[in-house]
Amino acid sequence: KRERLQSIVDVPAVTRDGREFQLLANIASLHELEQTLKRGAKGVGLFRTEMVYMDGTTWPKEEEQFGVYKAAAEKLQGKPLVIRTLDIGGDKQLDYISLPEEENPVLGYRGIRISIDRRDMFKTQLKAILRASVYGSIRILLPMISSVEEIRKARDVLELAKQELRSAGTAFDELIPVGIMIEVPAAAAIADMLAQEVQFFSIGTNDLVQYVLAVDRMNEKISHLYEPFHPAVLRMLKLTVEAAQKHGISVSVCGELAGDPDALPIWLGLGVHDLSMAAQSLLDVKSRLIESSEEEGKRLLERLLDCRTSAEMKGLLQARETSVP
Ligand code: PEP
Ligand code: MG
Repeated sequence: KRERLQSIVDVPAVTRDGREFQLLANIASLHELEQTLKRGAKGVGLFRTEMVYMDGTTWPKEEEQFGVYKAAAEKLQGKPLVIRTLDIGGDKQLDYISLPEEENPVLGYRGIRISIDRRDMFKTQLKAILRASVYGSIRILLPMISSVEEIRKARDVLELAKQELRSAGTAFDELIPVGIMIEVPAAAAIADMLAQEVQFFSIGTNDLVQYVLAVDRMNEKISHLYEPFHPAVLRMLKLTVEAAQKHGISVSVCGELAGDPDALPIWLGLGVHDLSMAAQSLLDVKSRLIESSEEEGKRLLERLLDCRTSAEMKGLLQARETSVP
């Protein structure tokens, strides 16, 4: 099977009826980038920057962060690189800052909430990203957004970072695109409003499923309830994608569900053509994609939207799988 998969590394990610996809990779370090390119990724759709912060015993300096982002951009040779700003808190901790003990860390001080609160730390990261932006095709992605205000506050810090670079005469991409993760139900619910504030959406199904279903993604006792193929999740995805389409911004998916070949009909049906996933999933997804058709996806999505249970949804998705020659 591995050899068969390896043989499609250079095959274009196009459905039988000609719909082209951009299959991108999620990475957490420069080291992972190597693996990714070997598996034919067309770029990085999610660079989780937490590791850049976890390596040391204190906040990494601007120079150090710049070095990492620049190296990633150069390695990608113009292919897209989406850098997500620091997303600590919840399940991700940093030893050198003591975050308050919280009753519900997943609903607590995390992601963009910390960045907006610690503006200097945030500004340092943004400056490092901006400086790297002249070495490739970089985009900025903000995690855990749940309101228009948060986007505006983040943009204020970005503007400050840009001003400081300008006055120092440092080059950066003035038009660097800014996007947000859609991973909190509130963001999906007001996706039409958020779409008017940013250049792109990236759907984080890992957290979205956790929050929509109120099921802690780390709690094994309820892992059977953590179900991405749930009618409520599908409605959130539909709301988000339609809002992006209506306002003409791009939308991709970067949660684990993007790497599940069974989910492909959903993306085909909704009209999502950019998927970012763990490098190990790239060829599995491509192999299914090249046997799929957009038309079939659209038909299947209509039926999925009528399903009342996860079992029904999965039944439909798997029936399709066995019917493909
Ligand atoms: C997500 O929530 O789907 C996501 C991609 O981000 P993370 O897994 O890093 O929370
Ligand atoms: Mg997340």
